[in-house]
Amino acid sequence: MVLEWEEHLLLLDAGMLFPTAEMPGVDFIVPDFEYLSERRDRVRGILLTHGHEDHIGALSYALAAAPSPVYGSRLTLGFARRRLQERGVRAELVTLRPGEPVEIGPFRVHPIRVAHSVVDSLALAIETPAGVVLASGDFKIDAQARAEQRTDVAALAEWGERGVLALLSDSTNVEQPGHTPGEDAVVPAFEEVLARTRGRVLVSCFATSVPRIQTLAALAAAAGRPVAFLGRRMIDNTETALDLGLLQLGGATRLEPARLGDAFASRALVFVSGSQGEPLSALSMVSLGEHRDVAAGPGDTVVLSARAIPGNERGVSRLISNLYRLGCDVVHPGTAKVHVSGHGSRDDLVELLQRTRPRYLIPMHGEYRMLAQHARLAAQAGLPADRVLVAEDGDVLSLSASGARREARITAGRVLLDRGASEVEDVVVRDRRHLSSEGIVVPIVVVDRQTGRLESPPEIVTRGIVDTAEAAELAEEAGRILAGAIDGRPVEERLDSELTRERVKDELRRFYRRRTQRRPMVIPVVMEV
Ligand SMILES: [Zn+2]
Ligand SMILES: [Zn+2]
Repeated sequence: MVLEWEEHLLLLDAGMLFPTAEMPGVDFIVPDFEYLSERRDRVRGILLTHGHEDHIGALSYALAAAPSPVYGSRLTLGFARRRLQERGVRAELVTLRPGEPVEIGPFRVHPIRVAHSVVDSLALAIETPAGVVLASGDFKIDAQARAEQRTDVAALAEWGERGVLALLSDSTNVEQPGHTPGEDAVVPAFEEVLARTRGRVLVSCFATSVPRIQTLAALAAAAGRPVAFLGRRMIDNTETALDLGLLQLGGATRLEPARLGDAFASRALVFVSGSQGEPLSALSMVSLGEHRDVAAGPGDTVVLSARAIPGNERGVSRLISNLYRLGCDVVHPGTAKVHVSGHGSRDDLVELLQRTRPRYLIPMHGEYRMLAQHARLAAQAGLPADRVLVAEDGDVLSLSASGARREARITAGRVLLDRGASEVEDVVVRDRRHLSSEGIVVPIVVVDRQTGRLESPPEIVTRGIVDTAEAAELAEEAGRILAGAIDGRPVEERLDSELTRERVKDELRRFYRRRTQRRPMVIPVVMEV
């Protein structure tokens, strides 16, 4: 999201998205930053609300589009710094602290502490010449949390007093009733798991879930269990948080992964990355019995302490089955309270609205259905319908003290990337999907340059259509049909190799559709000799 006043732009968060199974060969997705790069001289800064991938994962791409200073809290910048180092990107990083406003061009940005599943999360009250824009970031109220971790509702209410032009508010959990419980809600279930597990307890949560890791490390220490961290992102992130003093292990002994095979590590609590069933993650390797340092089995319990992100359910389900195959016990949010969300439920959202009393609400974060429900919730809470602006990627809203209106849309979208960070075009993804569901046919046709007649019977190679024996039979039949179709044409058509290629394609498409009910991709190779 871009906030723009005259010739000055701020970018709010720069997140990435992980692909679904319908995008074969795509490894991550970042926003299309063209709008930013076209205005690179006017970009005054990039503001990060917190350290989750979907808020900082595309930072290096945003910086490539428009080099500018990056603002965020200590932990957020700690995570971001690692990410930028990995990509060899340099940027000026400016630390934000709650209660300490910073001037950025014509804007004055006030960081406000909010509770979320990663510590050091911020809402940002941005004073602009047109009025105050308050971005909640991802948040829940969590009134029971320790003072340094709960949402600073007093600061939010102060902005309500001063006047907020627009509130941009998290919508992720708008379908959940009540208030979202605090982190402590997971303690009883984990105590139970620690008490009944003879062997190791493997906990998989997001590598950014610092409060969760801290809570569980303290429980492990109390139970006399050492702790260990497995998986690159898990190790990187916990080290960043430990270095900054934002994570304490509560006196638990920390083991190196290589020591996990030793006898004294037989009751360790191990934090493992891969709660989403990602194929190459540490937990996936453990579930297949292929991890270098850990072999899980009978007596061990694996806890999935995270919700499966929509689209990942099948991968997670497969992971759980594989863990059961090893003889482990598996506990997940569907069977015990081992996860609480970091996003506010309906009562949290209404509370934010009532404390900040904005002139306009712009629902943010979440799918369209959540934005729409957030708008309805606000209406129920008393905000007139014309003061809620539901916007999607590419929408431009113009706000002033005298009103709000929609401007013409701009082009905005996403860029699909593979592991090597090169772009995967949509058409490539479409082809891959086509190939994976329908298969491929490659006819090799050799014709005489002078006569246009076949030099030899066509050769047809197929993949992914039918089993091998049947494929050979079909290919032979297809070859005969092709021979007739090519040799049977008038000579002037035969001599046009482009026409021949089209003819071969049409014939084979029709043939395979009729015989196999598939629509394979046909790629003719026509050679003239
Ligand atoms: Zn988020
Ligand atoms: Zn988040």
